[in-house]
This record gives sequence, C-alpha cells and structure tokens, in this order.
Amino acid sequence: MKIHQIEKQDSILNKFISEIRDVKVQKDSLRFRRNIERIGEILSYELSKSLAYKNTTIQTPLGEKEIQLSNNKIVLCSILRAGLPLHQGLLNYFDDAENAFISAYRHHPKNDTDFEIVVEYFAAPEIENKTLILADPMLATGQSLVAVYEAIKKHGTPKEIHIVAVIGATEGVDFIQKNFPENTHLWIAALDDKLNNKGYIVPGLGDAGDLAFGEKL
Ligand code: URA
Repeated sequence: MKIHQIEKQDSILNKFISEIRDVKVQKDSLRFRRNIERIGEILSYELSKSLAYKNTTIQTPLGEKEIQLSNNKIVLCSILRAGLPLHQGLLNYFDDAENAFISAYRHHPKNDTDFEIVVEYFAAPEIENKTLILADPMLATGQSLVAVYEAIKKHGTPKEIHIVAVIGATEGVDFIQKNFPENTHLWIAALDDKLNNKGYIVPGLGDAGDLAFGEKL
C-alpha cells in the first residue's frame, strides 16, 4: 500500500486538524463539519495528482487551449454516518463522481469492549473498472473499511482503490494494509500512535459522528 501522510509537510491543513482535535473548538458542530469537509478538499487535491491525465483541447472565446484533464470514472464511497462531511469535501472537488453509501456500525454483543462490524444499508453504483475512493474519517481498527470493501467488491473489481481518512491509528493502517490490494493508495491527513480499549484513536478527537451530528442512543 502506498501511504501518503499529508501532515508531514506543514500547510494550512494543520490548522483544520488542530481545530477538529481541540476540545475548545470541536464542540462547534458547524465548524467541525466544515473543517472535515475542508480536509476532504485538501485530500482530494493531493489524490488528484495521482490520477491519469489526458491532453484535451478547450475552446475559449478567443482561441483554443490544450490542457491535461483526468477522465477517471470515480465512485466515492462513504460509511454512514460520520463519513458524510468528508464525502461532501471529496464531492466538492470530484463533482462528476458517482456515489455510494454504506452503513457500518460497531455492535457489542456482550455489552463489553468486544465488537463486530455490522454492514446494513447498501446503495452503490457499478464499480467495475472504475476508480474507487473509499472515505472513512477515523481509521481506527480498519475493520469498518474492510467490511465495507468486502460488501462493495461483490459488485465488481475497481481499476484502482484510494482510501481517504482524516485521522488514523497505526494499528488500523497495518490492518488495511493486510486486507486491501497492494496497489491501494491511502491518503491520510494525520496519523496517531494508538487505540484505547474501546477502539478509539488516542489522542484522536473523540467520536467524529457525535461531533458532527450529535450524540446517539
Ligand atoms: N470512530 C471515531 O469517531 N473516533 C475514533 O477515535 C475511532 C472511531
């Protein structure tokens, strides 16, 4: 897997990451969602550099201009519900993309810290031979991403796979590395060292779904 950890180069991205982590700022849910969206836009821009480009002629009112344009058929696939603001950020740039939404949640059968991933809602277009972008804001254990990939790959084989995440833990990155094809790209804004016993990223930011949309039952 080719890992692109975007925070390694200082940029305005650091400000958006600091605001979603900061307990004094992150509780403003409008700002939280917009920051995740802005990070999605930056990751889209970085990812776009790896796509295939083709020489295209554009007619202006005064003449013709040749420009390199990408003609990849992109499918953006997000995991409900925390993935929605990240999805919007990606869609702001890849505005011609098709869209897939899949739900995945942690089910704790014994009411303890052990959990399994349940995939329920599934709405996806054809992915055969297309560029699949799988978005998950928090790459913690990596189990949700792998469960969603298992569900979507029953419907075709993408030409290339890009995973987009905001914050990840090394353990989750190792897990997806073992479960995705070798030529998969991971575009991740920030990487943290560890998970706590509930599978949350430390220091991370807390629960991305709750911060974006409010607490759930
Ligand atoms: N999901 C979250 O929202 N936060 C984490 O730290 C891990 C998974």
